[in-house]
Amino acid sequence: VLQVCLPLNALGFAYREVKDAWVNVERLFVLLREKPEIAQKPDQPALKIQAGEVVFDHVYFHYVPERPILFDISFRIPAGKTLAVVGGSGSGKSTLARLLLRFYDPIQGRILVDGQDIASVRVDSVRQVIGVVPQDTILFNESIAYNIGYGRNGATLEDIHNVARAAHIHEFIESLPEKYDTLVGERGVKLSGGERQRIAVARAMLKNPPILIFDEATSALDSSSENAIQRELNRLSTNRTTLIIAHRLSTVVGADEIMVLERGRIVERGTHAELLSLRGMYAQLWLLQQRQEKEKVAAEAQNL
Ligand code: ATP
Repeated sequence: VLQVCLPLNALGFAYREVKDAWVNVERLFVLLREKPEIAQKPDQPALKIQAGEVVFDHVYFHYVPERPILFDISFRIPAGKTLAVVGGSGSGKSTLARLLLRFYDPIQGRILVDGQDIASVRVDSVRQVIGVVPQDTILFNESIAYNIGYGRNGATLEDIHNVARAAHIHEFIESLPEKYDTLVGERGVKLSGGERQRIAVARAMLKNPPILIFDEATSALDSSSENAIQRELNRLSTNRTTLIIAHRLSTVVGADEIMVLERGRIVERGTHAELLSLRGMYAQLWLLQQRQEKEKVAAEAQNL
């Protein structure tokens, strides 16, 4: 039985899934929060992935009918491009990711990958082409090498070292007493949120998916870790269709399109420059975060 660094009661209904040693970690991360509620018809064909274009076409969604969550969401992420979604807590950002991973089906509207409605193809074939860097990465009580290698069956140690280098975690791993054999998780070395996220980045690089979901951690990171994660994200998203669920606006500046969600509705969209010149909600948030960022850097300098 696979041990995960979480109390089993938190897994609840997901426990049976977890017993399967090849349970996919992305699946696990979403399963922890909610039960999949999709109707899978038998004999559906597999998704035929091409360049990896993602389209949301007039999507409406609710978890419970009394509380609509998304209203008429339409966007297109051309293959290889990046869409960043920003908005207040509870505005529906992560729900977009859950729908793309098909943990739920839209109430109305369609989600297309390379022109194919994801509701009409096999769900595993959709999840196979999507890599997820979750907000809070779950690590198994296993070695670091195992935790990274999980991204791809049959990965060699050399592959693992290469992606760890690219994710800027290699030197840190080499500094641990047992290097790549160091146990992590509850019964091993405790890693910081930033270190765990870098392991998730390395794992996603190994999986090498055409589509990537990056769910940015809400937890506060110091400015240098933030910058490091930013660089890794840039590297990881190059030539992949990327959906960023962003909490810090610094992450979204370079996105091809930014979408501002408010209570489940798209209220602004455009590039960073376009949204700043709109002088609307995004521009206000940006000014606020810039100020906070300056204060943080000043406070860090004082503490040195
Ligand atoms: P945050 O920035 O805080 O992560 P978010 O914009 O990602 O928020 P979502 O996680 O998409 O927000 O949630 C949107 C709304 O849906 C929230 O009000 C949340 O309480 C509700 N919600 C999320 N999951 C469920 C669920 N399984 N059942 C019922 N309501 C849910």
